[in-house]
Amino acid sequence: MQSVDLVVTNIDWLITVDPGRRVIRDAAIAVSGGKIVAIAKSAEITKSYSATRTVDANGAVATPGFVDCHLHSSFQLSRGLADEANAQAFLFERMYPYEAALEHEDVRLSATLAAAELLKHGVTCFIDPGNYHPEASVEGIMATGIRAIVSRSSFDLTKSVLGILPERMIETTQVALERAEEVLEKYANTGNPRLGASASFRGLNNASDELILGLDKLAKRYNALLQTHACFSYSTHDSSVTRTKMAEIERLESLGVLDERFLAVHSGWLEPEEVAILAKRKPSLVCAPSSSLHNGYGNFVVGKLPELLALGVNVTVGSDHASSGIVDMPQEMRLACCCYKETRLNPRVMSPETGLEMATINGAKAALQSDRIGSLEVGKDADIVLFDTKRPEWQPLINPLSNLVYSATGDSVRDVFVAGEQVVTGGRLTKIDETALYPQVPVAVARFGKRLKLDQMVQLRWPVS
Ligand SMILES: [Zn+2]
Repeated sequence: MQSVDLVVTNIDWLITVDPGRRVIRDAAIAVSGGKIVAIAKSAEITKSYSATRTVDANGAVATPGFVDCHLHSSFQLSRGLADEANAQAFLFERMYPYEAALEHEDVRLSATLAAAELLKHGVTCFIDPGNYHPEASVEGIMATGIRAIVSRSSFDLTKSVLGILPERMIETTQVALERAEEVLEKYANTGNPRLGASASFRGLNNASDELILGLDKLAKRYNALLQTHACFSYSTHDSSVTRTKMAEIERLESLGVLDERFLAVHSGWLEPEEVAILAKRKPSLVCAPSSSLHNGYGNFVVGKLPELLALGVNVTVGSDHASSGIVDMPQEMRLACCCYKETRLNPRVMSPETGLEMATINGAKAALQSDRIGSLEVGKDADIVLFDTKRPEWQPLINPLSNLVYSATGDSVRDVFVAGEQVVTGGRLTKIDETALYPQVPVAVARFGKRLKLDQMVQLRWPVS
């Protein structure tokens, strides 16, 4: 008998997403030092391993922890702020002013809530495109036990065709680069495997070539990701062409920054030449379904992500932000698959298996962590999600991939482990008291709402008495 820290046993369906894409019935996982030491039938594991702690999965479906490749942790307090807004209004009239109104304490609370919602819906690692209070994000995020890649947001062009940035967000190129480097220096190599840092510019239209090239140099020096929003709507595409005579991916190619360490969020509006560039350079791309659907940006109507997947490009999923409604990876997987089926009038265009790969192993690859996370394999970190199948949406359970992607939501997540540590049990967070968070929300909204003139920004269409 080998002694281990943890055995998760009695898993009805174990979906490994390993290289053989094995699905194991009546399975168990043995964990030691935070890593998976064995995966086999429950009877074999019980015979060979004695565990300090045993968790009875009680017939659950198990998957690897999801990797959400795009979630603004500072936007968690923005639900209801940016509905029915086109790209210009969304960015310049709603979200940038919101972001400029936040102080350290607001961002800490927002990031804690974001990490809480992600974990409760099975996400064990996420990539944050950054904000102006990254230390507050790290405080909030790390308290929950989730993995995260943080960054500091960068802009250096005040005006674009779409609008003018709030004063608090305007920086010179040099200051933006210095602050980006401070964050990389502080968080890129902390020795804590749950925390990483990336270089980030928020979008091409408010970033100079000097800023993009400077951030690329920093990302290489710290062996980190370089990320941005790209090709998010027709207006961002058109704004790029108007100002630079180049579409967004073309511009990135001309700067020589596209490679496998690059993360391009959205990539919805692509010209044929841009598809060819992406197929050649192979950056990772993020499909953000609820974000496009919420305000009608057309990423599915004109998107080419199924083709790019077929061309060997690493496509992932991101829930983007709470202002588009959901922060729920099972729902995002469903939207990614079903919206492409609908717009292509073809049920074969994206399978639930592809949806789950995008949310797990592809996400781990985009985060530059596929050697440690993204699948359930011996030697990898034990990031495990157990779905409670004793619920109506899991009946009958003939094909668990079908239930997971087409029927379930994150609400059926029962237990979540990060490196073998149980961070969600019975649907509740273990490391923080989430009930203590909720009374803080109206206080924060009142605080930043005054600066934002929230009562003028959001007016309900129906009378409130
Ligand atoms: Zn975003």
